[in-house]
Amino acid sequence: MYELVVHVSFCGAHFLRDYEGPCANLHGHNYRVEARITGSRLDRAGMLVDFKRVKQLVEEIVRPFDHRVTNEVPPFNHLNPTAENMARFIHDRLTDSLKPLGLQVVSVGIWETEKYGAFYSSPAE
Ligand SMILES: [Zn+2]
Repeated sequence: MYELVVHVSFCGAHFLRDYEGPCANLHGHNYRVEARITGSRLDRAGMLVDFKRVKQLVEEIVRPFDHRVTNEVPPFNHLNPTAENMARFIHDRLTDSLKPLGLQVVSVGIWETEKYGAFYSSPAE
């Protein structure tokens, strides 16, 4: 099996609900999304999938959140915009996009800072 990793960055503001601490106040992050893709078949060029294609797909998913208050953008107007929830949201959307191409998302991580990130991966089938 092959595994690719693609990083995409965006800026966003958010605040956490049901949480006591500074993160309950509006603040911003330079988010970094880390998408890991796996598959077994290479194309004629010897690629699993073009890095740029994965980058475009992740960018399309996060574009609504870029330079916005995440809490105002669905589904995070209802769902708390924690790194965990955001990782799962991006994971599930990316899975929908890549499945028709015969590719599987291993995990999606989202880094809020250099030190803090959350990853989501599908349960083993
Ligand atoms: Zn935060």
